[in-house]
Amino acid sequence: MTSRTTAELQALDAAHYLHPFTDHRQLAARGARVITSADGVWLMDSEGHRILDGMAGLWCVALGYGRKELAEAAHRQMLELPYYNSFFQCAHPPAIELAQRLTEVTPPQFRHVFLTGSGSEANDTMVRLVRHYWRLRGEPGRNVIIGRWNGYHGSTMAGASLGGMQPMHEQGGLPIPGIVHINQPYWFERGGELSPAEFGLRAARELAEKIEELGPRRVAAFIGEPVQGAGGVIIPPDTYWPEIQRICDHYGILLVSDEVICGFGRTGSWFGCEHFGTRPDLMPIAKAMSSGYLPIGGLMVADRVAEVLIDKGGEFAHGFTYSGHPAACAVAVECIDILRRERVVERVRDELAGHFAARWASLAAHPLVGEARSVGLLGALELVPARPARRFFGKRGEVGTICRDLCVENGVVSRAVRDTMICAPPLVITPAEIDELVARIGRALDQTAAVVARERRV
Ligand SMILES: *Cc1c(COP(=O)(O)O)cnc(C)c1O
Repeated sequence: MTSRTTAELQALDAAHYLHPFTDHRQLAARGARVITSADGVWLMDSEGHRILDGMAGLWCVALGYGRKELAEAAHRQMLELPYYNSFFQCAHPPAIELAQRLTEVTPPQFRHVFLTGSGSEANDTMVRLVRHYWRLRGEPGRNVIIGRWNGYHGSTMAGASLGGMQPMHEQGGLPIPGIVHINQPYWFERGGELSPAEFGLRAARELAEKIEELGPRRVAAFIGEPVQGAGGVIIPPDTYWPEIQRICDHYGILLVSDEVICGFGRTGSWFGCEHFGTRPDLMPIAKAMSSGYLPIGGLMVADRVAEVLIDKGGEFAHGFTYSGHPAACAVAVECIDILRRERVVERVRDELAGHFAARWASLAAHPLVGEARSVGLLGALELVPARPARRFFGKRGEVGTICRDLCVENGVVSRAVRDTMICAPPLVITPAEIDELVARIGRALDQTAAVVARERRV
């Protein structure tokens, strides 16, 4: 792709490329790390460093890097039909095949999908479809959607509004009207003296309180990630989701399970809702759907909603030029076929999750770690100034950033969310690579602890 040196690439990058979620002054001062190739779970940068990708790209590269079948599926499709749309009563084989595959691997209430180019677009589609659904049902006043603080549902206007990231809301006058938030089920931060089980119920019941406050006939839907990913791998207590389901049923509101991270095996079930035992009406999906090889997303629509949409007729005035892009669909079909053929999800559940949980839990003994939690191949470490109290560093986020940079120096990508270190490796990682991942993070923790002690951070 390029014969330029790292310094040349960094200079051009700083001069011309505006990165997502990046402080450009900082970036220009330090220079970007330039990733040039990858294979399996290993990244290679422009300086020749081999780095274990503990984040599967951005949670998406489930099948790892270098899968020829995925590249060949895109290549074949691009030669046969690189683009056509599904507007105006058209279709093409890859979109049809993908829709059928998706209904086979998702829970039984789902027999329809609306395809998009990303997870954000899937959530925008959800907002429009939910409001359209209630209008068709003769309840246009039911238009409020409840999300959660520190949830993440994407970066478009609707996606960022559904999410509860305050820095995102502050830039751009969000949330858009008709979206409100309740607190997150984050026991480590918010649990106080309650047991996790008690706290899970308490957190879920905030939904009922919010519905009563708004007026039950105004609430259209509730959205949550089974496990909050970008918010810091926040794994809710077991009591949480069943109580949310009960409240949604009681008030007759739609339940949206944002499966953009949890979908396609991340928790050891095909979808996070199956792990936690909910029956969602809508499921945004993306990321691992194509293992990130091409951009694609979708909204799974349960029969309860699809039947109203189809029976009442009329056009759903919504769609993207790249809804159901043929090459992206062909890659997603191949990706799902590989997940099934190689029993990747079953392997996560039966072999890898237990090994990962045990190795990850060993990090809880580290003096800097206040909690080590995991589910499937998702992990989080809470970095704290003093154990065993559930207390945070005074200025949150600085120690996490130090640890993140030390992780990369030790040849492993782990992301810092505030002072929570998170991990979501490719689902094809081997047990030996899990050992390597944890050993490298452990070394970074030792070095971080040394910095914290030297600088006397509390
Ligand atoms: C990443 C993410 C999104 C947004 O997906 P994009 O493809 O980045 O638009 C939505 N929801 C969740 C839970 C995500 O993690």
